[in-house]
Amino acid sequence: MQSLFRQVPSIDKLLRHPQAVEFLQQFAHTAVVDALRTLLTEARSFIQQQHQLPDYLANESTLFAALHERLNQTHQPNMRPVFNLTGTVLHTNLGRSLWSEKAIEAASDAMRHNVALEFDLAQGSRSHRDNYISALMQRLVGVEATCVVNNNAAAVLLMLATFAAGKEVIVSRGELVEIGGAFRIPDIMKQAGCTLVEVGTTNRTHLKDYRQAITENTAFLMKVHTSNYHIEGFTSSVSEAELVELGKEFGLPVISDLGSGSLTDMQALGLPAEPMVQEKVAAGVDLVSFSGDKLLGGPQAGIIVGKKALIDQLQAHPLKRVLRCDKVILSGLEVTLQSYLTPEKLTQTLPTLALLTQSVETLTQKAEQLRAVLCKRLDSRYELQIEPSLAQIGSGALPSEKLPSVALTISAESQADLLALENQFKQLPNPIIGRFAQQKFWLDLRSVAQFESLLAMLETAELK
Ligand SMILES: *Cc1c(COP(=O)(O)O)cnc(C)c1O
Repeated sequence: MQSLFRQVPSIDKLLRHPQAVEFLQQFAHTAVVDALRTLLTEARSFIQQQHQLPDYLANESTLFAALHERLNQTHQPNMRPVFNLTGTVLHTNLGRSLWSEKAIEAASDAMRHNVALEFDLAQGSRSHRDNYISALMQRLVGVEATCVVNNNAAAVLLMLATFAAGKEVIVSRGELVEIGGAFRIPDIMKQAGCTLVEVGTTNRTHLKDYRQAITENTAFLMKVHTSNYHIEGFTSSVSEAELVELGKEFGLPVISDLGSGSLTDMQALGLPAEPMVQEKVAAGVDLVSFSGDKLLGGPQAGIIVGKKALIDQLQAHPLKRVLRCDKVILSGLEVTLQSYLTPEKLTQTLPTLALLTQSVETLTQKAEQLRAVLCKRLDSRYELQIEPSLAQIGSGALPSEKLPSVALTISAESQADLLALENQFKQLPNPIIGRFAQQKFWLDLRSVAQFESLLAMLETAELK
């Protein structure tokens, strides 16, 4: 063992090697020494455990190859692009919506340059960072004003903290939802310091339930869109319009958390219905909040639209300063919203809507192309088949509302072979993410963007 340990070279000696000098120029001293130290520490513990040298200590060239790989690895982003073949288009774990090309351009301009973020170019004076979005929302949905924050959870928190701290908020029991990732309406209420007053039962809530719950201490009436679940059978809920009537009677605002919400009619695009922001505004709801990176198809943001007097109060709350968006997000959001001024082209401009509205024929053609490439890359252990599949919108859209789709399924005699393949897919330069079902690995074509790049990567990928 001692002789093995003596074969581990010293850092000083290695640093004088011409190969190291080259790396020093490229990566500089700190990174090279760090990587060398890690490699040599690993080598010593390998010797301790295995009583032999690790392969990379065979000679100088293997050692420097290992060092180069390490250095490259640490300079590569870990959060790299993946191909989403899960069948869930808005996949929270995979970053939800993809931006339009124009939004990407605007955002990268904003990164590279100073922008008129809080500067009125016409007046030459200071302005507000939400003004551009506010003007667009006024045009698109006819609201008085808009407030933009980090995400919709933040939007709900800000509305509650501003209007209901130390007060009561009335919500139907059937709407006390948990949205994935630990967003629970009752928890947000607690954080905002308000008291939740639950009314009705899980399946039925009536207007009189709200009426009876109103006290001197009521701050507002709240509706939460139960985006991710659905109760069937003996059910009843109170519409926004009815709540608005009741609110007027008692001088109470009505607030609606729409979750995804949409600015365009999803049914007209052949998709499951989703409540529209315009409808809620038209029904007289005082404040409506929704996400920027769900069906809207833009950056992560929480958008609150509604009455100016209330929006002004949100803007003045100290939490707004904590939750505000930066220039990159706001410029991406502005350009995303501008796309809605040309609704005829939404399914071309917004990648999310483009994916969701692809025809089954298009998906079948893609499945055939994918099969042709994979056939060449995989050996006879694997069997490929094109099958009908059910995709979903994701991110709080109803999971029961499936979208017809097409998948390439891969099966193998041995489960181990199938797992090994899934693992190889995950190791690719741009990992492929699919899903297991019925002992097969499913690659659903509905959710994958940049399809040509996927084919190109697979053409040259090293798959065993
Ligand atoms: C998704 C969702 C939220 C949370 O929105 P984020 O933008 O993810 O913070 C809140 N409420 C409802 C009803 C939702 O569907």
